[in-house]
Amino acid sequence: MTNDEKTKFEILRQKAEELLNTLPTPRDEQDKLLSVPSKTSSPLSEINMMKLIHELEVYQVELELQNEELQRAKALADIATNKYTNLYDFAPSGYFTLSKMGDIIDLNLASALMLGKERSKLIDNRFSLFVSSDTRSVFNLFIDKVFESKSPETCEVTLISNDDLPTNVLLTGIVTENDDQCNITMVDITKRKQAEIMLLEEKQRVKTILELVGDPIFLKDNEHRIIFANRAFLDLFELDEASVLGKTLAENVPENEMEHFLRVDRSVLDTGISDSCEEELTVGGTKHTIITKKIRFIDKSENRFLVGSIHDITERKQWEVELISAKKQAEESDKLKSAFLANMSHEIRTPMNGILGFAELLKEPELTGEQQQKYICIIEKAGARMLNTINDIISISRIESGEMNISVSNTDINQQLEDVYNFFKPESEKKRIKFSFKTGLSGKKAIIKTDPDKMNTILFNLVKNAIKYTDKGSVEIGYRLKADSDPLELVFYVKDTGIGIPENRQKAIFERFIKADINDKMARQGSGLGLAIAKAYIEVLGGKMSMESKEGLGSVFYYTLPYHTELEEKSVTENAVLNNDIKKQINPQVSGLKILIAEDDENSEMYLRVIIKSICKELLTAETGREAIAACRNHPDIDLILMDIQMPSTNGYEATREIREFNKEVIIIAQTAFALAGDREKAIEAGCNDYITKPINKEKIMQVLAKYFQQ
Ligand code: ADP
Repeated sequence: MTNDEKTKFEILRQKAEELLNTLPTPRDEQDKLLSVPSKTSSPLSEINMMKLIHELEVYQVELELQNEELQRAKALADIATNKYTNLYDFAPSGYFTLSKMGDIIDLNLASALMLGKERSKLIDNRFSLFVSSDTRSVFNLFIDKVFESKSPETCEVTLISNDDLPTNVLLTGIVTENDDQCNITMVDITKRKQAEIMLLEEKQRVKTILELVGDPIFLKDNEHRIIFANRAFLDLFELDEASVLGKTLAENVPENEMEHFLRVDRSVLDTGISDSCEEELTVGGTKHTIITKKIRFIDKSENRFLVGSIHDITERKQWEVELISAKKQAEESDKLKSAFLANMSHEIRTPMNGILGFAELLKEPELTGEQQQKYICIIEKAGARMLNTINDIISISRIESGEMNISVSNTDINQQLEDVYNFFKPESEKKRIKFSFKTGLSGKKAIIKTDPDKMNTILFNLVKNAIKYTDKGSVEIGYRLKADSDPLELVFYVKDTGIGIPENRQKAIFERFIKADINDKMARQGSGLGLAIAKAYIEVLGGKMSMESKEGLGSVFYYTLPYHTELEEKSVTENAVLNNDIKKQINPQVSGLKILIAEDDENSEMYLRVIIKSICKELLTAETGREAIAACRNHPDIDLILMDIQMPSTNGYEATREIREFNKEVIIIAQTAFALAGDREKAIEAGCNDYITKPINKEKIMQVLAKYFQQ
């Protein structure tokens, strides 16, 4: 008997004794027994007997008390059992016990509900039969592990149920003490699984949308690491996911730009104030102009993220720049157009004024011969000035259409310089300007291979300007051989002490129609084409042009030309007929020709009639293309047709084409007042032999005719 039991027993006994003393009837009985002697004699003494009876009574009470105790304990046990059964059966989770073979030994109601069968019908069934085929191997592995490891194991499986919807359950199992069973809890996680799937689908949907968005989108963590970047982002910066995800782009972006956008990121992440800014970003060497919008996003766990969207405006920026420059150009062109029209009007009206005025004066009957000569001279000069303007426009038209021909021949540059010097000498004297020229080479060394006409035009235009824009001081022209250049180069200069050119106009003046100060356009005559022509000619001859100028002090224009001394005929052009070499070949003996003048302008016809008089045997005239064709049919022996292009009804091209159908021999020379680029080609293509531009003078026409009527 343990000490506890002993104490319990003693307490019980004491209790029983106390109870017995309080009971009246037995005590009375006892007293009776003690007063009346017993008829039956017993070997026990009366006292002993009494003791025994007392003992028995106590014992009985003891038993009764014990019984009560037991009854109470049983009631408590019953309550506990009921509680346990209720808990087991009605628990929301499933509980079941499996044998080592995986057969169901016991299960609660929740388990039966999940398996979709009555509890009684499930006992002894193999649990794996209720597991879907795709998760059965997972379950089998789980059971093996449960029995092996003896510690709790978990797995997620899908149950085959009667419903269409599969039930996902989380199993947690542990082996029982005697090793031959295992207890398993089963929690229905279908909703959680569905939520997970939905979340995954949602994520996928969002990702798809983000991928579809044309603008680059990114997500950064609090440490500026990119944790998501859509396709547009990767495409824009030509990066792949591996070089972006988990990185800050520090490897791809220059340090100063990196510092800037990290600063903006930090501010958005710390303050939560969104940012939208235009920034320059150079990724892998390619510069982008972008507008980046950045906002902060904080998740449930208080983690901070930065969501950014990028709008690439690189192209737009370029367009903007181009547009601004185009707008500027258009505004400039507009100013130019007005300036050009004013220039042209001035440049044509002024000489025209002289021509018409002095022509009028020539009509005066009592003019002396000297006066007449003077007036004619003025008319000639004014005509030459007008022609100069027109020639400039034609040259620019040729330059712009890329139809500039060069005709190379041996050119004595000393001679050219001297010619230009002599030409402008009188003007410089008139303006009291000191005018000089310096040559850098002598004799044959000064003969170079270049286009003499173009070279002359260049020098002519520069010297004309130098004198025009210099009111006092000097103008000096010259050249030198640049010793250190390879290939060798000549450097020409035209230096003046004139008005100079403001610094901000020094570039513009080389553009056509531009004057240094377009507001002062009327101040000095000029079309604004001289420098543009000179520059284009210099470049076509293989040189470069530059200038130095100080407003109020003067200017120096430089240009280089290659120093080639050997002659190499490159191309023969229309200008070739004007070359000195060819000039010498003119045969003045051309004569006895039957000539048709097709010309609708009476004055021009009269003029032609006079200048061809000496070579003409018989002269025919026509005022329209039709008449010219008819004349040609009626006179098959015509030697030469001087065909005006611009005639009423049938023009010169059409008439030539028709004439060529029946007469291939006759020489047809086209004459036109337009002289624009492409006209020559059009005339030749129509069937003309050659082409001359108005105004025509005797020398010009004779040079052309010499080519066809040499004797
Ligand atoms: P323009 O027919 O007006 O002279 P150019 O093309 O030759 O046309 O010259 C353009 C402009 O450059 C001139 O209008 C003038 O303003 C300026 N310029 C050219 N040469 C000189 C110079 N030697 N000194 C000062 N200004 C000059």
